[in-house]
Amino acid sequence: MTVAVIRAEGPQDVAKLLGLLGGMENYVKEGERVLVKPNICAAKSSSTGTVTDPELVAEICRLVREAGAEPVVGESPIHPFRSSRVFERAGYGDFQRRYGFPLVDLDGAEAVTVRVPRGKVLREVKVAKPVLECQGIVNVPVLKTHLQTIVTLGLKNLKGLVQGEGKVGVHVKGLDDGIVDLNTLFPSRLVVVDALVGMEGELGPTNGRPVEMGLLVAGDNVVEVDATCCRLMGLDPRRVPHIRKAEERGLGRTMGFQILGEDPEKVKRDFDLPDHPELNKFMITTILLHLYHYARRPLDFLMGRGRVPRPEGRVGLRAELCDGCAVCARACPVGAVSMAEARPSIDDSTCILCFCCAEACPRGALYRARV
Ligand code: SF4
Ligand code: SF4
Repeated sequence: MTVAVIRAEGPQDVAKLLGLLGGMENYVKEGERVLVKPNICAAKSSSTGTVTDPELVAEICRLVREAGAEPVVGESPIHPFRSSRVFERAGYGDFQRRYGFPLVDLDGAEAVTVRVPRGKVLREVKVAKPVLECQGIVNVPVLKTHLQTIVTLGLKNLKGLVQGEGKVGVHVKGLDDGIVDLNTLFPSRLVVVDALVGMEGELGPTNGRPVEMGLLVAGDNVVEVDATCCRLMGLDPRRVPHIRKAEERGLGRTMGFQILGEDPEKVKRDFDLPDHPELNKFMITTILLHLYHYARRPLDFLMGRGRVPRPEGRVGLRAELCDGCAVCARACPVGAVSMAEARPSIDDSTCILCFCCAEACPRGALYRARV
């Protein structure tokens, strides 16, 4: 298993990147139908570091077709966003007409409930039928921070395969384990990370600051690719819970693999990371909190199910940025947000700190605050 990193002028350099790995022919077979899964989570352009560059997605589709397979681009945005509006504003509105490859709204397609045989917290998930009609996945995330999961890369990008409101169910059941569960069900044949423009800061994945990296990263093992991307962000991948869990469950390694092209140490940039308990140097506080919660829910712990322990922190509001749109109230999976005088009010006793509200807020008015 090998990861490749290159400095790139633009999306067209993806052919050079995959050339280091033996070409697209190594990952797709003639006659196959291949799902190309970008990150089109919110209604912002790729220049903001929020979504995958549509030109990169089109280049990858071309390479898939040249290798004899048929690409289908599929994505669903953050709940409760409307796909058509998000695709339009993210630069994907005329994708099919412009590039000649189909773009499927996974939220609008027929849903099928599938079992997750190796699931730890997910027993079953609802996914769009077109996903199941593909024989392989080419996963095309963006290099970004995430206020709940620290980073969102290849492993996390597959949450977009879960239809609509089912996504918030993954948050409720346990996001880090849920992400790993999804990757046991849908292994990526190839991961190509759009690190041309990434995103840093506490308000990733939708409201952080863009970072011009000028890099492309690829590999056939999602854990190795994610670990390499963490190092490009100046972060130890073992500090990221879902990456650590993926390694512990045998999905790949965070070290000890070959990296071709650029040395990550020489092209990395220390990202401004979210204020996350896992990165808190007073780790003992976090451990004690988790032990306390598990002690209160011994059965859930033994069965490996139920709600995750409520982590540290709370949702903070920058009232001056809020326009009272109420998207946060619609995004909350447990009804903890109510609107009062055109401002959100959060019931801390109900809130499970999933940060779906902050992820969905179009104005970056919500953030992860310390208690
Ligand atoms: S916090 Fe954000 S999502 Fe919620 S009402 Fe204000 S602007 Fe809208
Ligand atoms: S209010 Fe709490 S539970 Fe609701 S979306 Fe925000 S963080 Fe999640």
